[in-house]
Parts: sequence; structure tokens; C-alpha cells
Amino acid sequence: MGFWWRSLGGPPAPRAPLDHPLEADVAIVGAGYTGLWSAYYLKRAEPSLRIVMLEREFAGFGASGRNGGWVSGFFSGPPRVYERSGDYAALQRAMFATVDELGSVLGEQRIDADFRKGGHLGVALGHAQLQRVRSEVRQAGVHGLAREDLHELSAAELAARVRVAGALGASFSPHLARVHPAKLLRGLASAVTALGVSIYEQTPVSEIRPREALTPAGPVRARWVLRATEGYTCGLKGLERALVPMNSSMIVTEPLSEETWREIGWSGAEVLSDSANVYVYLQRTGDGRIAIGGRGVPYRFGSRTDGAGQTAPSTIASLTEKLHEMFPATAGVPIDHAWSGVLGVPRDWCMSVAADPATGLAWAGGYVGEGVAAANLAGRTLRDLILGRRSELTALPWVGRAPARWEPEPLRWAAIQAVYALYRRADRDERRAGRLSRLGRLVDRASGRH
Ligand SMILES: Cc1cc2nc3c(=O)[nH]c(=O)nc-3n(C[C@H](O)[C@H](O)[C@H](O)COP(=O)(O)OP(=O)(O)OC[C@H]3O[C@@H](n4cnc5c(N)ncnc54)[C@H](O)[C@@H]3O)c2cc1C
Repeated sequence: MGFWWRSLGGPPAPRAPLDHPLEADVAIVGAGYTGLWSAYYLKRAEPSLRIVMLEREFAGFGASGRNGGWVSGFFSGPPRVYERSGDYAALQRAMFATVDELGSVLGEQRIDADFRKGGHLGVALGHAQLQRVRSEVRQAGVHGLAREDLHELSAAELAARVRVAGALGASFSPHLARVHPAKLLRGLASAVTALGVSIYEQTPVSEIRPREALTPAGPVRARWVLRATEGYTCGLKGLERALVPMNSSMIVTEPLSEETWREIGWSGAEVLSDSANVYVYLQRTGDGRIAIGGRGVPYRFGSRTDGAGQTAPSTIASLTEKLHEMFPATAGVPIDHAWSGVLGVPRDWCMSVAADPATGLAWAGGYVGEGVAAANLAGRTLRDLILGRRSELTALPWVGRAPARWEPEPLRWAAIQAVYALYRRADRDERRAGRLSRLGRLVDRASGRH
């Protein structure tokens, strides 16, 4: 189990499994953020809807209970892919607004999830990473972002916020917040059940068909069946190659002493990353620890998912090393916990939301590593699509996309291993040469990631 659930004494008491066939207006498969936000907005808009959620384990078992707690106004995938189907800048604005929407629902529902909007620092560790930061800031301008959305900070400006050893500068964007993922999940699940949505746990769905989800207790028939299974989608019949379950791993320290925090700075709630090809992401938790995550073992043959989230000792060691490199003052601070999870990656690295009235099938996901805020936007968009309302949200370019399937094995495994091995090599080259590696750019292009 990840640190976040453990810090709350574990998930709430299990909810009952489904024990009989059922009819509903909307059946939602998967009780992570995507499923829960969709239920929340649908029920708020149309209280008479009968909505049931079918969850194989418990609400928040997946990435939603294990993530880095970045509520990010940015999203995955190259702009050119979204530009093919519409207005990329409109999607970007909608995502920025989503960070505030999420914060305001938490306030309205009185959910204390340690939400604080402190922005993001994309730290440059070395000259090559500084070039990457500058190029990202330039690219953001090309895609319509203003200076206040994303700009460069000098090394001194960064140090005034956080003292990161060896940092030559950073990018800063105000459009990110920090959250305690399991507190968000727990609060949202109780808000949804209070609205009258039934969540059935320990209820695996083996197959989704038009207007029907198959469970061990029999079929659940509904006008709409919403697939919200993200990194676990490959376990559903016929969807083995839809989304790859990519791993991400995290460690968290014990709480830092006041003296250590004084040495580091970081008195705000900014979330942090470095700017490598295979980057790490960090947050200062509400209770004064540092949580740091990264890719770890990227992918398991045959799209195997990780169950309870065991983490390889080599991954724990490399995350710990990175933490000590960035913050030498943490060298004596014990690591309290390590865990892993899977996120869903589509073949073109771009997220999607879709609902087809002809079949009653809907889905959202493929957020890569940036689904905390995007799942909220997905929930509001699915509300409008399912209720047949045309809105600004339903016109956004991630709506109705149908990404290509991944290659069959062993090609898929070989390609993903190669991509991450080459990115790691590019990072080593960049550290040595002090400039961006051509290899990294080649892999970006070949994999379609950027
Ligand atoms: C370690 C880690 C760190 C991350 N950090 C961040 C971050 O800082 N910021 C960010 O924006 N994103 C982050 N992400 C990604 C983010 O957590 C996800 O994009 C988001 O939580 C996806 O939510 P979801 O509801 O779509 O999927 P999930 O939370 O994975 O939920 C899917 C649910 O479906 C259930 N399910 C699956 N198959 C079935 C079935 N057949 N029948 C019934 N139920 C089923 C699962 O048990 C699970 O509960 C991270 C992910 C990981 C793993």
C-alpha cells in the first residue's frame, strides 16, 4: 500500500461487493478520480440518475491513491496531436482553470486534502537541463502561453524559494497545486456516496459491452457504461493493447526537522521536478516530509500490473540518491516508505475522453503521468457528453479521439525498454557534455512522446 493510504490508517472499511444483476442509468467501471469525478458531476447535474460504480479492489486502489499529488494544469502529449483535432490553446486554458475548479470543490465539500496552489518549479540541474528549460519556455510561447503562465527563474530567484544543490535556474508556472492524494480520494468518494451513488467494491468487471458490464454477480445493464480503468484497462477483454500500464515509483522521507527545512528553504507549497529526460517529481507534504518519484522499472512484459505496488531496491536506491543529490541536508533523514503504481499510456501519449451515444460506451484516460487534474476535466466533459449537452468542454480537442493500439508483444516490451534505456543514456551524455543530447531528441520523435 502506498504511503498516502497508510498515513490515514488504511482505506476506509470495505464497501460491499455487488451480489446480483443490476440495471442503472450509468455504470462506471473503476473508482479512481476519473470514475468518481464523473459520478460527482453527473449526479450534481441530474440527481435522478441511477449511477453505480463497479470497483475491482477498493476506491482509490489504483494510481489515484498512490500518485505524487501534483494537481497539474499541464497535460501529456505533443501539442501537434491535439492541434489536428482542434484548439490546443483552449484545452490548455481549460486545464489551467481545472486546478482552481478542483480546489473550489474541495472547499465547497469541506474536504481537507492539504490542497495548496504554490505552482511548479522545473529545476535545471546542469547546463543541458538549463537548455531544456529555456526551450520549454520558448515552446510554451509558441503555443500561446503568456509569460505569467510559464517563465524562467535565475539560480538566485530559485534559491530564494528552494535551495537545490547544483541548480542553475528553473522554470516557474503558477498553474499547479499540491494535494494529499488519498485524502482527496476519500473525501470525493464520500461526497459521491452522499449524493446517492452506489460504489460496489471487490467487484471485478471482466468485459464491457454496449450497455452492459459483466461481473461475477451477473451483468450490470445501463444506458451508459463508462470505462475509468486507466493503467488497468489491459485486463478487460478486447482492450489488451489500448493503454500500456507504465510504472511510476515513489519514496517518502520521515518528517524533516525545522533546521533541515531552514537549510533547504521551500517554505511554500511549490511542487518540483528536475528537467532530465527521465525526470523526478517531488512535493513537500502537508506534514513536512519530502516525497519524490520517478519512472523506476518502466514496464512489465505482457502489460502486467503491479498489484500491491512492490518497489525494486534499485529504484529505491536511485530515488534516494537523487534526493540526496538535490538536497544534501536530507542525507541523514530516514526513508519511511516506498511504493509503486501504474498509469495509462496511449500509443500517441495524448489523453482522451469520449462517449458514443450509439453504443452507450464512454471512457476517459491515457493521461500518462498527469491525471489528477485532467480526471476532473474528464468528469465535467463526460457529464456534458452523456447528458447530450454541447458545451465549451465538449468542443475541446481531446474529445472523441481514438488513439491507435499498441504493438503486440514482444515488440511492445522491446520498444518501451529501448525508449527508456536510450533516455537514460541521453541523460548521462547530457550530464557529461553539458548540452542537450541529440539522442534524447531522436527518441522523443521516434516514440512520439514530444
Ligand atoms: C506513482 C504515481 C505517481 C503519479 N503522480 C502524479 C502526479 O503527481 N500528478 C498527476 O497529475 N498524475 C500523477 N499520476 C497519474 C495519476 O495518478 C493518474 O493519472 C490518475 O490517478 C488516474 O485516475 P483514474 O481514476 O483514471 O485511474 P486509477 O486511479 O488507476 O483508477 C482505476 C480504478 O479502476 C479499477 N479497475 C481496473 N480494472 C477494473 C476492472 N476490470 N473492474 C473493476 N475495476 C477495475 C482499479 O482497481 C482502480 O481503482 C501518478 C501515477 C502514479 C502511479
